[in-house]
Amino acid sequence: MPTTTPGHPADAHRPDHDPSGPLALPEGVATAAQVARAAEHDGKVADYIAPLAEVDPSRFALVASELDGTEHLDGDVDEAFAIQSVSKVYSLVLALQAADAGSGVEEELWCRVGREPSGDPFNSLVQLEHEHGIPRNPMINAGALVLDDVLLDPLDDPVAATCELLSELCGEEIGLDERILRAEQSTSHRNRSLAPLMADFGNLRNDVEAVLDSYIGACAISMSSRQLARAPRFLANGGVDPSTGRRVLAAPLARRVAAVMLTCGTYDAAGEFAFSVGLPCKSGVAGSIVALAPDRLVVCAWSPPLDAAGNSVAARIALHELAERCGLSVF
Ligand code: GLU
Repeated sequence: MPTTTPGHPADAHRPDHDPSGPLALPEGVATAAQVARAAEHDGKVADYIAPLAEVDPSRFALVASELDGTEHLDGDVDEAFAIQSVSKVYSLVLALQAADAGSGVEEELWCRVGREPSGDPFNSLVQLEHEHGIPRNPMINAGALVLDDVLLDPLDDPVAATCELLSELCGEEIGLDERILRAEQSTSHRNRSLAPLMADFGNLRNDVEAVLDSYIGACAISMSSRQLARAPRFLANGGVDPSTGRRVLAAPLARRVAAVMLTCGTYDAAGEFAFSVGLPCKSGVAGSIVALAPDRLVVCAWSPPLDAAGNSVAARIALHELAERCGLSVF
């Protein structure tokens, strides 16, 4: 039975006021999926990573994973794909976990990578030259390469550590998509340009090839939309995994991850996402977008065709529709 909370009388004058109240999640997910599917052929599948170009563009999934474990599902929710840039969230989580263990380390981390939107494409080289090898934020490629460099100090194998964390959070074994891994190992020309430039500025301290291997491995982690919605519920729950009660991250650090996702998580369209979805989000070029609704749930929407900024067209519509219809916006 859907529940509705009566709004303040002043809400009646807001242009988006819906007198019937928010939809319950099962109806919200079904309706948002239906609306988004109409756009599933808009946009273009990423083809600079060869296996991504072979994906059926009509694949679509929408999952809302509540903190109590209830899942609302629509579409190809168990089909696995490479999480690509969504892995940057977990690189930041692991780096903050390491920073939390040593005093002064977090300050050093934020000296080496900023936390401002870039206003440039996710793989741009231009800003780095002007800004002395300090990437604008950890959600763009250059920023994640710095995180991978940071992680190579406390961890023997950051990719294995990421898979281990994800396996724990999902309660299922998480591994790599070997085809994506091989394809990116033999290309990644942009990342192979970013990394030495930052090393030249002194902002990569480990072997450049080892940093690139970690970065490329993390992008090739393979998960389904159901798993992508399940894993980051700790970020919507003050840093505590609601399935096990284990604290993954201190509450203030979990808030920082969410803040960086909101301001920097959707490439050069973070302002548009804040405006139209109103949730901390992270997208990846395989077409997934993960969104946190604090204290409530996590949503993953997946559809391979992307817009010019690199975000999935249908996934963005699904998130907008779901957030609007179910009243999920943080604003
Ligand atoms: N592996 C991709 C790259 O490095 C990730 C890009 C993304 O998902 O934003 O270009």
